[in-house]
Amino acid sequence: MQDTATDSPPAPTFSRPLEWFLCSYDELLDRLDAINATLYPSTRNHLDGHVTWLSPFLTHGIISTRQVADAVLARHSAKQCTKLIYELAWREFFHRTWQDRGAAVLTDDLRAEQPGVVSSELPSGLLNATTGIEVIDDCLHDLFNHGTMHNHARMWVASLATNIAHTDWREPARWLHYHLLDGDLASNTLSWQWVAGAFSHKRYLANQENIDKYSGRSQPGSWLDVTYEALETLPTPPELRERGSLELPSNPPGNTIQARAGAVALRSIWNLDPAWRREDANHVVFVDTELHERWPMSPNRWRFVEHWVQELGKLGRKDIALEQGTVAELKTALSGAEVVRREYPATNAWPGDVDEREWLFTAPDERCDSFSRFFKKVRQIGSGARRR
Ligand SMILES: Cc1cc2nc3c(=O)[nH]c(=O)nc-3n(C[C@H](O)[C@H](O)[C@H](O)COP(=O)(O)OP(=O)(O)OC[C@H]3O[C@@H](n4cnc5c(N)ncnc54)[C@H](O)[C@@H]3O)c2cc1C
Repeated sequence: MQDTATDSPPAPTFSRPLEWFLCSYDELLDRLDAINATLYPSTRNHLDGHVTWLSPFLTHGIISTRQVADAVLARHSAKQCTKLIYELAWREFFHRTWQDRGAAVLTDDLRAEQPGVVSSELPSGLLNATTGIEVIDDCLHDLFNHGTMHNHARMWVASLATNIAHTDWREPARWLHYHLLDGDLASNTLSWQWVAGAFSHKRYLANQENIDKYSGRSQPGSWLDVTYEALETLPTPPELRERGSLELPSNPPGNTIQARAGAVALRSIWNLDPAWRREDANHVVFVDTELHERWPMSPNRWRFVEHWVQELGKLGRKDIALEQGTVAELKTALSGAEVVRREYPATNAWPGDVDEREWLFTAPDERCDSFSRFFKKVRQIGSGARRR
């Protein structure tokens, strides 16, 4: 059985506990100032490496990629920050792709048809954390209990699901998005496509040696303890053959959307930025129930969202309301209001004038289907980050 969140789940083995993400805004800003950009490049692939764990805050728009870059560039040289900024650019690449391609990023194979698919259902070994690969099973327990997983572990899990068990990427992407505190519609679906060879030129595979190297553990003789050559044609092991059906119970918080007049600053759960203010406006955080039926989120994730809505309240938005409904209900409720919101592809159909999001890099002037093309283009244009 899958672990469920309890009041005191076991401490995570390879990641941060949920409580770490339920901090104050001041603590969060202190963490930006404590990022170790110098150790980041050589350690980021290791499960205990000096990564930032900031993605839930970036996903929910509490901080921006630009803010992270400014914070590290204030204390390190541009050269020291290169790798971290490169990774921030990956996030922007996924989001620019989402802006450009729209909802297709959530449903379609963007570059090539995913090879070798035999099922759309996830292996029970992943659903139950019984893959037999000890590090992966521990990372899955951390995910179910705390909503956190290191990037390398995500790549291993996605590779097992798509390239070893030959599962269509869509259902596993919904499953991971559900559990992650940072579940991000663009970064998640496009990363799955990238691992599965649908948004890249090559599938991603990892063997036990790779997992041992980056986890600091050792599991000789596991079913993944094979060469890369053998991995290319590895038959799906018994641990991943049985399939399970996906149950993702989700209960978005919030009262039904209320009619309003006057100035309304309409936030989504992806714009919980305390610095985005309209002094004289009513601030409403709207939860689109139809979207969240398609892309449900775990109780841990909603706890994180509610915490950060409360933080906004503490930071001067005392009357901030978390409300829910369909987009049609939202339009009716705010038909007499003067609405402003921030650009975000999942909210394109919402009413109101649109503010630009804060980006690190200016958008490329052409479609970029690969990250390398994107990064080359945006570097030519230049970033808005403040350098030391
Ligand atoms: C299968 C799979 C699913 C993923 N799903 C998500 C998701 O739902 N939400 C999400 O934010 N990221 C996702 N990622 C990307 C990456 O795993 C996370 O952004 C990263 O683990 C966040 O940890 P961190 O904040 O410590 O990152 P750091 O290494 O500290 O990097 C700083 C920031 O750079 C960005 N970043 C770093 N690596 C990547 C990357 N590979 N792709 C895109 N952005 C990156 C993130 O915004 C991250 O917060 C996924 C990756 C894979 C392989």
